[in-house]
Parts: sequence; C-alpha cells; structure tokens
Amino acid sequence: MMELVLYPDPLLYEVAQPINKIDDQIHELAAQMIEKMHESSGVGLAGPQVGVSKQIIVVNPTAEWGDEEVYINPKILKKKGGDSETEGCLSLPEITGTVTRSTWIKVSATLLSGEEVTFETEDFHARVLQHEIDHLLGILFISKIEPAEKIAIRGLLKNMERQYKEK
Ligand SMILES: [Zn+2]
Repeated sequence: MMELVLYPDPLLYEVAQPINKIDDQIHELAAQMIEKMHESSGVGLAGPQVGVSKQIIVVNPTAEWGDEEVYINPKILKKKGGDSETEGCLSLPEITGTVTRSTWIKVSATLLSGEEVTFETEDFHARVLQHEIDHLLGILFISKIEPAEKIAIRGLLKNMERQYKEK
C-alpha cells in the first residue's frame, strides 16, 4: 500500500512531471490513489502526495465511493471570483487554515480514457481542484493561509519538521 508523503518532504515542493502516456501503470496508480483518498477520508489527492511526482490528481468532493474523478495534466485556463474557506490537507494532518480561492474555474485535463476535456466548475468542486492542482505545482495550502493563522500553526509545523528529520 502506498504511503502518504508528509510535510516537509521536498517532493511536495517539486513541480510534477506531465504524463505523456496513459499506460497500465497510470491506471494502477489512479486506482491506488482513489483507495488511499478514501482510506484517509480525503476529498482529493495529488501524485506528489503518494511519492509520484507526476501530474495526476484524484478528487471526490462528495466523499462517496463511485464519485471519484481522475484528471491527468490538469490546467486552470480561467478563473473568476474569490471566496475564503477552511482547508486541510492529507500531507499536513491536524493543520487547517483559511484559503481564498476562485469560486469559478475553467479546467482542461486528460481523462484515464485518454479523452481530453475542458470543463467549468464552481464552489467546493472548484476549490478541491485548485488545491490539488497547486500540489502539482509544488504549492501547499499553508503558503496561502491568512498571516495570523501562519503564526498560529508554527508549533505544529515545527513538530512535523522534527518528526520528518527523525524518520
Ligand atoms: Zn493537499
């Protein structure tokens, strides 16, 4: 079973590589990521979070089995609006913070079938996609939270950094 990559692993700060060929390995990776997402009670997971620096994300804003979506090489083409909500991340358990994100986005991506799609989405689905696509760019949500929150989580981050070094 794959392990979650936790803060401050440098892999989380790398820009993930595009996927050129959707072969059996990518299908298997997607299936394992979906399982890991559910097992961890998450609504999204990106390749780098399972140790694979490739542009693949799985999302499931409803958290229901069967509602999973897999996107390969996803890109945000357009965005509108702004809204602040509390976010968390499987790579930073115990930490939450308020992130302002676009409320509407237009995304292009490749599906597991190889089909290339462009779609528009909003609200929570758009937020989850923005969070996961950030992971592919090496961006963690804690870099976007409000200044007072950044100060408040310092101790928790220090603990995680110490645990990472001891590992
Ligand atoms: Zn995350």
